[in-house]
Amino acid sequence: MLARPTNFDHHWLPFTNNRMFRETPQMFAKAEGVRYLTPEGDTVLDGSSGLFCTPAGHGRREIADAVHAQLMTLDYTPHFQRAAPVSFELAERLAGLLPEGLDRVFFASSGSEAVDSAMKICLTYHRAKGEGQRTRFVSRNWGYHGVNLGGTSLAGMVNNRREFSGVTCDVVHMRQTWSEEQRYTQGQPETGAELADDLEEICRTYGADTIAGVFVEPIAGSIGTVVPPKGYLERLRAIADRYGLLLIFDEVITGFGRTGAAFASQAFGVTPDIVTMAKALTNGAIPMSAVATTAAIQDTVFAAAGDQDRPELFHGYTYSAHPVACAAALATLDIYRDEKLFERAAALSPAFLDMIFGLRNLPQVSDLRGYGMLAGIQLAPADKPGAKGSLAQRALFDAGLHVKATGDALIVAPAFVSGEDDLEQMGDILRRVLGRADLS
Ligand code: PMP
Repeated sequence: MLARPTNFDHHWLPFTNNRMFRETPQMFAKAEGVRYLTPEGDTVLDGSSGLFCTPAGHGRREIADAVHAQLMTLDYTPHFQRAAPVSFELAERLAGLLPEGLDRVFFASSGSEAVDSAMKICLTYHRAKGEGQRTRFVSRNWGYHGVNLGGTSLAGMVNNRREFSGVTCDVVHMRQTWSEEQRYTQGQPETGAELADDLEEICRTYGADTIAGVFVEPIAGSIGTVVPPKGYLERLRAIADRYGLLLIFDEVITGFGRTGAAFASQAFGVTPDIVTMAKALTNGAIPMSAVATTAAIQDTVFAAAGDQDRPELFHGYTYSAHPVACAAALATLDIYRDEKLFERAAALSPAFLDMIFGLRNLPQVSDLRGYGMLAGIQLAPADKPGAKGSLAQRALFDAGLHVKATGDALIVAPAFVSGEDDLEQMGDILRRVLGRADLS
């Protein structure tokens, strides 16, 4: 048995019903491979790679060793007019993985920071071009882009935005792409590309010359995995080009192999102007995120600074490019390369999606969606929205499976090191629990 805390009063948990948690705390005390261990010693299969963070599995010694070695060599350096060699190596490695042209990398520590950094890069770029009036952004209903004030403004999940209205910036939302006719579609839906025209409509209504950029998750993750219709992202790209907007793909969930390609941009063959990434960048081991953009955008911003002695971008964090995070990321990228984990994700995907789509006729299931190693299970809703998701998450945990619930959907995202037997066990637990008429 591992120690369970006796006092739950002091730690205020994020995005948690803390009152309920304190009554029946669900805790992990240890993790190895694709399994967690509770303080009582019960094993819980990890169906969501933690929070989409650990494609290489938990407890990777290579990452721990790299972190330890970096801590003993150079534990910290500021990055304001200073730098360490390790961050340049990491930026170059990322440039090699990203779609061609996205090869300038800015570092931060979380997905939320990456999103806000990307917004500021957009604003700085337009101002550098003499278009400083482009201050508005476009995103999508039900989108999730973190919880800093920029990301809160972009948020299409209304609760996350409404609670803080008054301090958010100017964002117009497009419609989400899911529709009734897409129910139970595996992979990209055939219909819905024209929903991208919402962007054109917004450009006409608000004036394209007031809009800096459009943020989308290539696969909308936090709504419960909504896969873009065929042609949708291409159409967004074309409209953004037509009106001089920057297109930003928030790949915080989809980056690093989740779609079977390094980035979803490559899986869908559409290259944005900016990509944000986090989570699997360090296999979840150390907080780190990054924003990648093009030389053209960087050159424009640098040119505007001319020969003045000032930063080109008035933005950065104490922990931007933290050397220990860089070392963790480099060790993680080595694992992905040496174990061919993105290829493995692509190879495992059919068995994974077959398992998910085999849940179709269960009483608790009302829709299934999936692409690569990412799937959404929509639950037949109860009277109160979100109640079913919460019940299912707890029932699955008790049955030995960790999955992330969001509203009345479950997001399943196994590690790429999962074996077929792990996927079978996941399927067994899902069938057993979601096959029940009553989850309470
Ligand atoms: N963008 C997307 C698409 C995300 O899924 C998330 C987190 N789930 C974030 C941004 C925010 O990341 P973080 O929680 O690390 O700030």
